[in-house]
Amino acid sequence: MFIRQILSTKGGRVIGTAPATTIAEVVGLLERERIGAVVVTDEQGRLAGILSERDVACGLARHGPALLAMRAEQIMTAKVITCAPDDRVDQVMQQMTAGRFRHVPVLEDGAMVGIISIGDVVKSRLEELEQERSQLQDYIVGAA
Ligand code: AMP
Repeated sequence: MFIRQILSTKGGRVIGTAPATTIAEVVGLLERERIGAVVVTDEQGRLAGILSERDVACGLARHGPALLAMRAEQIMTAKVITCAPDDRVDQVMQQMTAGRFRHVPVLEDGAMVGIISIGDVVKSRLEELEQERSQLQDYIVGAA
């Protein structure tokens, strides 16, 4: 299974924000869009970082209520791990597990074409396993 297959059902919408957006606004965006992370893009639309609810929680522990007035670029992760549509889902899942992050933007020819969450990966893996189970059952029943 490839990342492209997940994007074909999920779509390529990526919710992003500017580096100067306040954390208060980012939190509003996360809540409105029911997502766990936003990508941060520069004026040219290039990927500048990623900011997840984990960063908000750690930021609150570190800065207290002053966090809300801080800018996204102050607490985002600037070194973003990305994947490509032709990457295999199980390899991306391994990267997420090893790096302890749950979101991976998908880039194709330098452009952002989607974002994959751990939820998307688990869903696709479960569907794949169910398909295998059903094929095995058909095979066993057919052979009996
Ligand atoms: P998450 O599990 O996605 O909530 O993120 C946990 C931590 O990893 C946060 O500090 C995020 O900013 C960071 N993070 C999330 N996604 C990525 C990614 N694709 N590459 C690098 N860091 C990430």
